[in-house]
Amino acid sequence: MKKYNFFAGPAILPQPVLMKAAEAVNDFAGMGLSILEISHRSAQFTDVMERAFTAAKKLLNIPDTHEVLFLTGGASSQFFMAPLNLLGSTQKAGYINTGTWSTKAIKEAKHYGELIELASSKDRNFNYIPKGYDIPSDLRYLHYTSNNTIFGTQFAEAPKTSIPYVCDMSSDIFSRPINVSDYMMIYAGAQKNMGPAGTTLVIVNKDELGKVDRHIPTMLDYKTHITKQSSFNTPPAFPIFVSMLTMEWVLEQGGVEAMASRNEEKAALLYNEIDRNSLFTSPIATEDRSLMNICFLLKDSSLEDKFMAEATEAGCMGIKGHRSVGGFRASTYNAMSKEGVEVLVQVMKHFEEKNA
Ligand SMILES: *Cc1c(COP(=O)(O)O)cnc(C)c1O
Repeated sequence: MKKYNFFAGPAILPQPVLMKAAEAVNDFAGMGLSILEISHRSAQFTDVMERAFTAAKKLLNIPDTHEVLFLTGGASSQFFMAPLNLLGSTQKAGYINTGTWSTKAIKEAKHYGELIELASSKDRNFNYIPKGYDIPSDLRYLHYTSNNTIFGTQFAEAPKTSIPYVCDMSSDIFSRPINVSDYMMIYAGAQKNMGPAGTTLVIVNKDELGKVDRHIPTMLDYKTHITKQSSFNTPPAFPIFVSMLTMEWVLEQGGVEAMASRNEEKAALLYNEIDRNSLFTSPIATEDRSLMNICFLLKDSSLEDKFMAEATEAGCMGIKGHRSVGGFRASTYNAMSKEGVEVLVQVMKHFEEKNA
C-alpha cells in the first residue's frame, strides 16, 4: 500500500531522489564503485560538492557576501558555533524564545556574550509567535527560530528590525523565499526539509567573521571551512550527496517560490479540515500556524489511539505529536504531495462520521 510520510525528522525525501541515491550506493557516476566508498577528494565527489554549493546559492539567491557550508554536528552545534564565531564577549545578542530549539540555542549562547531574551511565548506552551516587543538598537544580531518544529508555529515574516538576523531554519529552509542579505547567518540541519541526517547547512556573511576576542578551535571556526570549501576534514559525503539531489529536485520543481505556493495549498487543506471537523482542534494562534508542522488535537483525547490506528491503516505514517505537546503533528515538508494531505483529510472526515 502507498505510504505517506508525515514524520517530523528525519523526514520525507522526494521519490526520484531516493531512486538516484539508491543507484549511487551501488554504482556512482559510472565508476563501478559505491558513493559510500570513494575519496572525498576524487573528481567525481568534488563535482557533488560543487553542485551542492551551486544549488543552494541558486535556490536562495545567495549574494557574494555570503558563504555556503556543509558541516557536521547538527543544528544543535550551531547553537554554540554561531555565538562563538559572531558574538564578542562584551557584545549583546537578542534571542526570541519560541520553543524547545530556541531555548536550547539560548542556553548555549549566553556563555559567549550578553544575551537578552527579547520575547518568549513560554507562558502559553509556545502556541504563538510573540509580537510587539522592543528591540534594542545595539544588538550584534537577533536570533530567532523561523519554524518551530515541535510546537507548530512559524514566523510568517522575519521580525521587523534592521539588526541582522541569525536564524535557525532547520525545518523550513527552502520552503519559501527569503532575503539572505538580511541575515548574518542561517543554519539548518538537513534532516527536515533538505536531505538525510548528517550534515548541517550554514550560510554566513563572511565580512562578519574574524571579529571576536577569543580563540576559536580550528574545527569550530567558520573561516576554516570557508577556506577549504567544507572539505577541511572528511565531509559527510552521502548526506551532502542526497541533499544536493534534493536541492536540484526543488530547482526542477520551480524553486522556492513554487514550493511556497504548494506548501500554502497543502497547509490550507489540512488547517481547513481541522477547523471544520467537530472532533479536532488546533492549539495554535491562527496567524502563527506553521506551514511545515501542522499540530492538532482531538477534543476527546480518549479517541487518540483509535484515530492513530485509522491513519496508519490508510498509509499516513508518523503523525504522532511530540511528547511535549501531545495530539498529532503532520509534517508537510516540500516533498509531501498534495495527495498525501488529501488522504489524511479523508481519514479525518471518516473519523468524524463514525465518532461524532
Ligand atoms: C530538529 C531541529 C534542531 C536540531 O537539529 P539537530 O540536527 O538534531 O541538532 C534544531 N532546530 C530546529 C528548528 C529543529 O527542527
